[in-house]
Amino acid sequence: MREPLSIYVLVDALGWELVRGRPFLDDVLIDKRWLVTILGYSSGAIPSLLSGRYPNQHGHWNLFYRSPGASPFRWTRPLGRLPRPLVENPVSRRVVKHLARRLSGYTGYFSIYDYPVAHLPQFDLTEKRDIYQPGGLDCPSIFDGFRDAGVRWECYNYHSHTDAEILALAPRRAAETDARVLFLYLSGLDNYLHFHVHEPHGVAAQLNWYEAGLRRVWEAARRERDDVRMFVFSDHGMTPVRWTYDLGRDVESLDLRIGADYLPAYDSTMARFWVWNDRARRRLLDLLGDHPCGTLLERAELQRLGVWFDDDRYYQLLFLMRPGVLLCPSHMGSIRFAGMHGYHPSEPTADAVLLASTPVDRAVDHITHVHDLIREDLGIIPKRTDATAERLPAREVAA
Ligand SMILES: [Zn+2]
Repeated sequence: MREPLSIYVLVDALGWELVRGRPFLDDVLIDKRWLVTILGYSSGAIPSLLSGRYPNQHGHWNLFYRSPGASPFRWTRPLGRLPRPLVENPVSRRVVKHLARRLSGYTGYFSIYDYPVAHLPQFDLTEKRDIYQPGGLDCPSIFDGFRDAGVRWECYNYHSHTDAEILALAPRRAAETDARVLFLYLSGLDNYLHFHVHEPHGVAAQLNWYEAGLRRVWEAARRERDDVRMFVFSDHGMTPVRWTYDLGRDVESLDLRIGADYLPAYDSTMARFWVWNDRARRRLLDLLGDHPCGTLLERAELQRLGVWFDDDRYYQLLFLMRPGVLLCPSHMGSIRFAGMHGYHPSEPTADAVLLASTPVDRAVDHITHVHDLIREDLGIIPKRTDATAERLPAREVAA
């Protein structure tokens, strides 16, 4: 008899809203429920899935954080004094990115998006290493857990393969491998939904494709073994975009100087600010404290959401857009996306999912719970009994 095989599949942006009303391997994945996500993007949510901790515990939140002393873009500082068109063009930006990546030695996801070159020396990148390997985070992740418990695993992700390649390769690996775990990270659905979330037929075709691919993985594993378990989970959902808003234009009208008075970071759903004097702070608070497009989040709420950082590295002021309002143009680009994530976790379309081939403890309802679920499945920690589960709020949903 062969050893059991657990197949863990992280499908980026597979939201509860997408699967709640349709089958998705329902004959195999019998337990189907939503998971509340964190405030932030995949750069914060996936480390939360992999470590079972919140961003202010594992340290990964947005892709950029302020750290002028350690910035891998320090050497670009003189470029900020050149005329804008010389620096802010696709060719020089590509050179800056390429050189910064080489000089920094970072091996994680490396992009400068549309962050102005003149601002880059203020920032460092959060993801310095490949987070799908042991040692990828500054705290233990599930991959450290595999290694420490002597669990053999194989992991396939965008670093080496496309989704099509992973889904072509995985059935064979599921049949042949002697590993205890097959971990697949599929990132293509996220990209599709950013452009097409408003198109129900296209979305259904995508989901059918992933469903069929995962069914082949499951069936290949089952032909070789009796004990196969599959857990499909996601990091966040996708909120349809209804409006775009150029928040930077409002801020620029305040007559404050970037660098001398404040520093902005405009992400797709939030604006982050560092402020260097009272005048700048007062003007920003006046504008953002009563703005129809979103909310200036207060410290208590940011602490509750697990994204308050005592050292200000991610922000001093955080303005969050209302769900469905895209901050555009932003430092993430000027594309008017059809869908976006990174709104408040209470927004229903932000919910992630957990689909499992075995019944799951009733208390699992947040992406940070997946880490212990995997460790329970592998016997690294004992399975939680119903008695301990009942003390936690249950949000199980019938499929
Ligand atoms: Zn995305």
